[in-house]
Amino acid sequence: MNDRYSRQILFNGIGEEGQRKLLAARVLIVGCGALGSAHAEALCRAGAGRLRIVDRDFVEPSNLQRQTMFTESDAERRLPKAIAAANHLREINSEIEIEPHVTDVNYSNIEQLIDACDVVLDGTDNFATRYLINDACVKHETNWVYGAAVGSYGVTMTIRPHQTACLRCVFEEAPPPASAPTCDTAGVIMPIISVVSALQVVETIKLITGHMTDLHGSLMQFDVWRNEWRKFATGAPNPDCPTCGLGQYETLEATSAESAAVLCGRDAIQISPSQPTSVNFSSLAERLRPAGEVKFNEYLLRFKTGPFELTVFQDARSIVRGTDEIATARSLYAKYIGN
Ligand SMILES: [Zn+2]
Repeated sequence: MNDRYSRQILFNGIGEEGQRKLLAARVLIVGCGALGSAHAEALCRAGAGRLRIVDRDFVEPSNLQRQTMFTESDAERRLPKAIAAANHLREINSEIEIEPHVTDVNYSNIEQLIDACDVVLDGTDNFATRYLINDACVKHETNWVYGAAVGSYGVTMTIRPHQTACLRCVFEEAPPPASAPTCDTAGVIMPIISVVSALQVVETIKLITGHMTDLHGSLMQFDVWRNEWRKFATGAPNPDCPTCGLGQYETLEATSAESAAVLCGRDAIQISPSQPTSVNFSSLAERLRPAGEVKFNEYLLRFKTGPFELTVFQDARSIVRGTDEIATARSLYAKYIGN
């Protein structure tokens, strides 16, 4: 056993056997932004043997304040986050396998991505992807750790399919599109990322090393600015839950998934949310104003940020101009409109 893990092996909860389990484990990290960066670094240092990292974005200067994996040079070179992360992780620990994927996670690839993984970590920024992870993980009996942070607030929960409540047992529906703040409209501070990611990582280590009774078994909420810490027991699976009770995995079917279509010859992509809703333009405009130029009338809202323009319709359908790449458009939609 390598000396690099000696202090971790000394820790009672892990020991030599736990370290062997960690080295043999494969973890999928979905999204390598602020949370995903923290997951990847901690697990790489801990010697989780195989890290599969998926992200659709590239590094931007506004990431550097909290996405601890990346450097100014990554942002200048506009490297894909998965690739930049893999480069740094290989310098931190050359003895583990890093498998970067630059792709948009959706119904067509999620099951392949979780294949042979012991745990899935949520580093995403939207509910559509979280329900997709939940469906795929419940279907394949793979443990996963939900986590989210915006502003100074964060939340996490550990899901063991059919042993504990799943994401849909606790949140039956995602908040409707364009209804909730995102990090790109309300901001986010680094300390909440540290808190949520630390909880997610230690739960992952407990899962891998088989310490199921040490899992926190709850929905944990934190606000590091208001000094609030709450813990709600999530309990057993709900037998009426569509996902873990009834085995309906609706997000894995193409028909119900959020759809994106390239609008030919227009350098634009249309994003249609999976659940149409009615958008309140004035509150959305208020949230978007710090991030760019916003105008709206009763039919549509137009938001300009950098080289991109988003036109949002009443039903949350949006046209993203300034790109012909679906992954870029979906990323902008998740950042600014949300879910
Ligand atoms: Zn459930």
